[in-house]
Amino acid sequence: MAARLATLRHDVTLYERSSSTGGMSGSLTRDGFTFTTGPGVLTLPAVYRDLFLKTGAAIEDVVDLVPIESPTRESFAGTGTGGSRTVVDVPNASRSGVHEAFEAGFGQGAGDDWQRLLHRAGEIWGVTRKSFIETPLLANPAGRAEQLRSAGGRRDLRTTAPWRSLRSLGRGYLSDVRLRAHLERFAGEAGCDPRKAPATLAVLPYLEETFGVWWVRGGLHRMTEALHARCVQRKVKVRTETGVASIELTGGKVSGVLLEGGGRVDADIVITDVPAHTLRTDLLPASAPAPRPRRVPAPSSVLELHLALRGREADVPHRTYLFADDPAHEPIALFAGRPTPPADPTLCVLAPDDASLAPAGHSAWTVQVRVPRHGDLDWTAADVRDTYPATLLDLMAARGLDVRDRVLWSRLRTPADLEHDTAAPGGA
Ligand SMILES: Cc1cc2nc3c(=O)[nH]c(=O)nc-3n(C[C@H](O)[C@H](O)[C@H](O)COP(=O)(O)OP(=O)(O)OC[C@H]3O[C@@H](n4cnc5c(N)ncnc54)[C@H](O)[C@@H]3O)c2cc1C
Repeated sequence: MAARLATLRHDVTLYERSSSTGGMSGSLTRDGFTFTTGPGVLTLPAVYRDLFLKTGAAIEDVVDLVPIESPTRESFAGTGTGGSRTVVDVPNASRSGVHEAFEAGFGQGAGDDWQRLLHRAGEIWGVTRKSFIETPLLANPAGRAEQLRSAGGRRDLRTTAPWRSLRSLGRGYLSDVRLRAHLERFAGEAGCDPRKAPATLAVLPYLEETFGVWWVRGGLHRMTEALHARCVQRKVKVRTETGVASIELTGGKVSGVLLEGGGRVDADIVITDVPAHTLRTDLLPASAPAPRPRRVPAPSSVLELHLALRGREADVPHRTYLFADDPAHEPIALFAGRPTPPADPTLCVLAPDDASLAPAGHSAWTVQVRVPRHGDLDWTAADVRDTYPATLLDLMAARGLDVRDRVLWSRLRTPADLEHDTAAPGGA
């Protein structure tokens, strides 16, 4: 956004309270191992291609963006005799390949069910893309409400079904519980409860299957570094370690920002990515004519366990989901139960096939788990911090991915760390 605005000849200053830009997308380097922190794959590469092209030079000139060749492996608790797990390798960006994988893994008809759901998701994408993504929202709140109400006709409303949850949509199309878990993982990754998340989230698997998942050689943080560099090239003034304490209004209009260390800067327009609630309660004066943000369910957070491993395994794909024994119950434990570290969470294991991330003959893996936010659960408590990594490694082993005797060292990044590093409330 900053680079685009600067290209349009706005005088842009970017204020970042921490020591580096990138927010939740960053990196951790130690002893020759590098871990991408934050998202483990990149989706919708067209957004980045367009951004780089329109702000100076093509994306190929700045990062090595490559499609992830390996399939996404999904492993589910066994339902048959002997309890062996069902493992499905879902190919990247291949409709027919995904159909085949689900038919083979979940039984005849599963691939057809999934295709019907994805067809609906494609229609939802057609509607939401037009109305919400490619049409600028009106600044005036009353006009905006009207714009949203009138977006699309009755047919579009039937397609998007804003009253329907993702879980309800899944149950309508998918008879296999593992296929439903596959769909609901996209809500989980967005921090949402699939019982309450809108059915429109079905666009996420649609986008992943249609446009694929991608990687940047050297780690996804290379993309944020490239974005930073592009901003500087476009003469955006980047001020790190400079938090914004509040936004100043004069006569009901933005006139500047007050900085945390003291000082005031003139501004005609302020654009911010802080959560709406934080903006309203912490940054804007109480008298600001901004609407109160609608109360939405608080999202869950995510925990990362970085593993510096001895050895390399040729057979482990970039992304493996080791699903909970009872995936349908997972959101109940996460959102409605007593906030404790989840005992039966779905694990996402990221094992990028990128030799630059670890010394020769070693691997840098990250395990991501959806967990309660910091605050609901005290993630700084020693008993949680000290015991949960072993719990996760045991769960991996029980689900067929045992690396316990290969761990050189590990580092846990909890929601408390995330909150500290990015100011996201609760690390969510
Ligand atoms: C482990 C993990 C996995 C994820 N996986 C995915 C995924 O697969 N797909 C996906 O789409 N998303 C994923 N996300 C979420 C994604 O990273 C975030 O949605 C994205 O980073 C949000 O970008 P943002 O710029 O809005 O906010 P942030 O990344 O949180 O950045 C906000 C920045 O603003 C700064 N800041 C805050 N307040 C102030 C202030 N007052 N003054 C100055 N600076 C301030 C913060 O320090 C921070 O650098 C994941 C996140 C994590 C942690």
